[in-house]
Amino acid sequence: ICLYRTCPTMLNFIRPNIRAARAYAVADLPAGWLKLDAMEVPYAFPPELQSELAAQLARADINRYPNPAASALPAALRRAFPVPDTAALALGNGSDELIQFITLLFARTDAKMLVLEPSFVMYRRNAELFGMDCIGVPLKPDFTLDLPAVLNALAEHNPALIFLAYPNNPTGVPFARADVEAVIAAASGAVVVDEAYGAFSRDSFLPQAGQPENLIVLRTLSKIGFAGLRLGYAAGAPAVMNELAKILPPYNMNCLSLTAAEFALNNMDFINKNIELLKQERTRLSNALRGIAGATVFASEANFITVRLPDAEAAYQKLLDNKILVKKLHGSHALLNNCLRLTIGTPEQNDAVLSVLLQAA
Ligand code: PMP
Repeated sequence: ICLYRTCPTMLNFIRPNIRAARAYAVADLPAGWLKLDAMEVPYAFPPELQSELAAQLARADINRYPNPAASALPAALRRAFPVPDTAALALGNGSDELIQFITLLFARTDAKMLVLEPSFVMYRRNAELFGMDCIGVPLKPDFTLDLPAVLNALAEHNPALIFLAYPNNPTGVPFARADVEAVIAAASGAVVVDEAYGAFSRDSFLPQAGQPENLIVLRTLSKIGFAGLRLGYAAGAPAVMNELAKILPPYNMNCLSLTAAEFALNNMDFINKNIELLKQERTRLSNALRGIAGATVFASEANFITVRLPDAEAAYQKLLDNKILVKKLHGSHALLNNCLRLTIGTPEQNDAVLSVLLQAA
């Protein structure tokens, strides 16, 4: 018999919505390129911390299954961040995994998800993956939340699940806290306040996680320096987190990430110093970008800046010509016409972006 046969109909067993989708695109850049498209932090541990981390990783029990609950990580997260004592934690392989499983938790026939648009694309993609109807409520043209429109959509659709990124991606613009509180109060379903960029923001809902019970706060270590560890966490009411625990895959967190994350959280000085540097650079870069004729720089509370340029495609190409990759937003949503999203890098990296954009203008 021939073992290498194709099955012409086999792929038809896969759900049509999955076959119609495209995989999340991840840029793979040749050496020498500047990658400023994915909100990574440009600073790695200095050599002495790298050696200490290596020694700890060498002692990790990789012959055993990991037990995140019994690991030191939940306590380390509670020491490092204002998680309320009354909230329970869930750990995810990146907050992406938690977005997926929180969606699965609420996905029943006829259940709806509500998202703001434009926002993080994975909310809608997960709704589609699990067969939930996704209601998109457009932001206002200045990327703030349109509260009457959201309240109307809540009344009309009664969504089981609402995702709000606070601050929002891909815009960086924070919503008014009172607007988010109004959404939480009006919703009968769960509201996930996704604070992936919370460390760069003036405000946070983390201290209120689980109060009220429908408020889940999502955070990640990715944007504060550790995207490679894939470590996200959700804080919420124990009743909700207990349900989530039933559907998370067993052993979803690997022991090397748990060990490295705990090590990272024991070095908060390093993390906080980088956050401060990036915030200073955000101010400097925003002001400099405002000097480009015809540019609109949106006030960001995240580690990236969204800017509208007279010709974003030309600017994007010019950056590529200089081996700089940023995120082009134009074409992805009508409100993002002529917009680029620039991850904040080191001062030298930001200068490189700036000099290309000033030349292109
Ligand atoms: N939420 C938001 C708003 C994001 O922008 C991202 C990353 N692009 C994530 C969640 C996922 O982050 P991670 O899986 O790395 O924790």
